Amino acid sequence: PAPVHVIGAGLAGSEATWQLVSAGVPVVLHEMRPVRGTEAHQTDGFAELVCSNSFRSDDAMYNAVGLLHEEMRRCGSLILRHADAHKVPAGGALAVDRDGFSAAVTAELASHPLVTVERGEVAGLPPEAWDSVIVATGPLTSPALAEAVRGLTGEAELAFFDAIAPIIHRESIDFDTAWFQSRYDKPGPGGTGKDYINCPMSKEEYEAFIAELLAAPKTEFKDWEKDTPYFDGCLPVEVMAERGAETLRFGPMKPVGLTNPHSERRPWAVVQLRQDNALGTLFNMVGFQTKMKYAEQVRVFRMIPGLQNAEFARLGGLHRNTFLNSPRVLDPTLRLKALPRLRFAGQITGVEGYVESAAIGLLAGRMAAAERLGQAIVQPPATTALGALVGHITGGGVADTFQPMNVNFGLFPPPEVPERQPGQKKVKGRDRKTLYAERALADLDLWLGRREAA
Ligand code: FAD
Repeated sequence: PAPVHVIGAGLAGSEATWQLVSAGVPVVLHEMRPVRGTEAHQTDGFAELVCSNSFRSDDAMYNAVGLLHEEMRRCGSLILRHADAHKVPAGGALAVDRDGFSAAVTAELASHPLVTVERGEVAGLPPEAWDSVIVATGPLTSPALAEAVRGLTGEAELAFFDAIAPIIHRESIDFDTAWFQSRYDKPGPGGTGKDYINCPMSKEEYEAFIAELLAAPKTEFKDWEKDTPYFDGCLPVEVMAERGAETLRFGPMKPVGLTNPHSERRPWAVVQLRQDNALGTLFNMVGFQTKMKYAEQVRVFRMIPGLQNAEFARLGGLHRNTFLNSPRVLDPTLRLKALPRLRFAGQITGVEGYVESAAIGLLAGRMAAAERLGQAIVQPPATTALGALVGHITGGGVADTFQPMNVNFGLFPPPEVPERQPGQKKVKGRDRKTLYAERALADLDLWLGRREAA
């Protein structure tokens, strides 16, 4: 078969290349380093880990990213195989010797008979002769290529974001305190008038909250980030609070148009959360983008009445990141609707993290291989971590508020829990996670069996 061109030999591009050549499809792998660098990479190795050396929890039964590891191993992942081989002690996490890991990925791909490595930037739209391309150029995609893609999707679609707000699991919110209601009960497009979750604050609670918000330690900017302006309308919540104690009460926390069904007292301020996925299992904190340190976010945001036990699917953050509004611009097989010979993979598709980026690379590689070999593309089941993740970026995520996402159980359809017998406790916590994980691995094996048979 004719080669598929993969642009970017990062986590996603390396995995996509491996999946393609494993299916017998040749690859031309384009990597711009060391000809041109990025603001974060330090070496010219493939699959360089730009920051931490951790692939996070390796616990497949209780943790969504651990489950994703296991699914990727079962799919013959190159990234997981070398991560396992270069593991360093890190408790229950999978952490790796970054140099050994990157060197092994580079050596295996560079010496593979079906891989041709071309060092150099793809500085614009790939030539028309490349009829099947995987763009895996990451959050630091070179400006020339980013511009070209922006030209195809419209400026707003290739976002350049500075601040993101935390996302919370709905089941961890206390509805004895919080309630569902849209401001002035306005339904909005496709809404019901009960689209937001509201958390009320008294004057004393508000004042204590603002004081902690201002005092909490914040993440410092990296040098190359210092010139990055804040997006208008996307100021970190603590920067708004610095402008005056009342700023938030007249901004995202304004208490108007809302009636607390649990109390006669009018709230002094209200925190609103908006649905973040089609399943309605995740909600984002409206206007609460922040650069508080992670542990501080958990501590300070749990001061909000109703969120005292909040579990975070992702925390807020502030860094430079180029990503597509995938729910709008990609089709279910990760192809750009506006130019289907381009398929996208990795962080640029709106997933977040090394493992997630490699996972989307794995799927993009398998999809491109099937397409090249004239086989049907069979999507991974939505009950698997791979299926939940790709489903989120290509359809389940809400396009208007789409933000990069880590894998988490909130992206999965809730499992069917066996009917409770009288006196029996609700299945919660670790047991519930095991239900997700067992179902995922069983469904993944069926999918792999079907694919291999096809
Ligand atoms: P990358 O691994 O960045 O790979 C993209 C590749 O494409 C690079 O090798 C680049 O040189 C190449 N490239 C770019 N443009 C072109 C072009 N035009 N032509 C040819 N090649 C090109 N995630 C975590 O899980 N943990 C962390 O600690 C973490 N820290 C991060 C810190 C920073 C500063 C950033 C920006 C991101 C961080 N991430 C982290 C998020 C993310 O997981 C990583 O960025 C991850 O490497 C993304 O994988 P990727 O394959 O999509 O992109």
